[in-house]
Parts: sequence; C-alpha cells; structure tokens
Amino acid sequence: MGIHPDGAWQQEQLAQIYLATDGRLSFVGDWHVHPAGGFGMSRRDRRTMAATVDEPDSRLAVALMGLLAQEDEHYRLGMWTLGDRRWPFGLPNAVRLPTTIWTPTAGEAFWVRLGIA
Ligand SMILES: [Zn+2]
Repeated sequence: MGIHPDGAWQQEQLAQIYLATDGRLSFVGDWHVHPAGGFGMSRRDRRTMAATVDEPDSRLAVALMGLLAQEDEHYRLGMWTLGDRRWPFGLPNAVRLPTTIWTPTAGEAFWVRLGIA
C-alpha cells in the first residue's frame, strides 16, 4: 500500500479544475512525507519548489511544499516555501511556515517504526 504518483492523471485533473473555475483554483505546490524523520527540506525538495515556480505555465510567484515527518514519538505537519535565491549559484533557501505536532493514536500511526499501530 502507498501512494504511487500518476503525473499524467494529476496534470489532467489540475487542468480540469483550473478550467472549471476560470482559473480561480490552481496548483500551488505539492506535499510528501519523510517517514524516516526530519522536518527539513532536502536539496531535492528545494529544487522541486524552485522548478515549480520557474515553470512559466505554473504562473506562480511562490510555491508551497507540505511535509509530514516523524519526530521521535510524534508527527510534525507543516508547510514550507522558498526564500531568497542565492543567485546565480546554489539552491534557494527554504522557509518554514507554521507547523503542528501531534502524538498519533493507534488509528493514525501508519509508520510501523513508531510501534503503535
Ligand atoms: Zn523531502
């Protein structure tokens, strides 16, 4: 079980939503999990956000990246966005937006490593 991205299907759904709402609803970013822990944005994460903003068709000034990560016996859920770019070299900084932390109940603990499920 798990999530298996289907890029073509996602793009089609996004296009339909965009057209059906006359552009009022649009893609602003993506989300993923860090099951091995760590709430930081990796180089790949920052590269993905930068590529989203740099794509002219996205028409985005900023990109968002949702993240769910394990921290000890808790989960942390929050959003990141891009900060200043280190032009012309290097990746942009990632800026952490407000997060929430919770201890999962047995029904929420989907990462076996926690040993709660
Ligand atoms: Zn990541």
